[in-house]
Amino acid sequence: MINLKRNSKGVLVQAKGLRSRNIYTRNQSDAFKISRGKFNDFLTCQRCFYLDRVKGLISPSTPGWTLNSTVDLLLKKEFDLCREEQIPHRIFERFGLTNIVPFKHENMDLWRDSLHHGLQYKLANCNIILHGGVDDIWFDQHEEKLIVVEYKAQANDRSVTKEHYLAGVYHQSYKVQLDFYAYLLTMMGFDLSSTGYFYVCNADRKAFNFDGRLMFEETLVPYEWSTHWIEDKIVEMVDTLNSNDVPDPNSSCENCAYSYQQSLI
Ligand code: SF4
Repeated sequence: MINLKRNSKGVLVQAKGLRSRNIYTRNQSDAFKISRGKFNDFLTCQRCFYLDRVKGLISPSTPGWTLNSTVDLLLKKEFDLCREEQIPHRIFERFGLTNIVPFKHENMDLWRDSLHHGLQYKLANCNIILHGGVDDIWFDQHEEKLIVVEYKAQANDRSVTKEHYLAGVYHQSYKVQLDFYAYLLTMMGFDLSSTGYFYVCNADRKAFNFDGRLMFEETLVPYEWSTHWIEDKIVEMVDTLNSNDVPDPNSSCENCAYSYQQSLI
């Protein structure tokens, strides 16, 4: 994909590939925030993570996923109505979740704001603040525990099942996402149900015609999150930030392969 750098008025400007702010200095004492997305970058390619966070390289941008984010936005509106009234959402009964309501908390909007706040936890003995904007949190009224939730929109010919969804290659990072949010909420002192949910909206590609609308099949996919692996990876990530050595690239990365081939021409 070819991305051209434009200013806020849409005029093409020179792409420099480097930024001057929000760069980590080895062993710095000031607080430094690492988002869920950057943590996932670390898991995917330590070199790209290092070049971005320590060297200030700017990764090529991608267009927003506006159809997906619209589904998220409208679901959020639905859930907020139920949150205000403290009543179950319409989908809960279909999945036998009659004792659950959307969690009501004064910080809910902050926790959902992935750009400016999100769930936050400052690592002990370290200046790193982990953060991430969760889609939703529900509340189990019987167990008095929080439930971590992600909304996901997709278009797949196959109906959504738990087994197939959770085994999907491209859904592994979704599981990391719920693990990460569960970790943050736990470290923030909340008691969590061991089951989180993906609220999956699957667009009907077999519909007779478009007629100005997309129809979705909605499924709740339960997921037993796990956080036992996260702390080791955080330690590795902090060591990488404080290292002088640039890590190796991921040999499966098509971007690096492209750049390497270009350098040979
Ligand atoms: S392999 Fe190269 S381009 Fe790909 S993620 Fe790593 S550093 Fe970035």
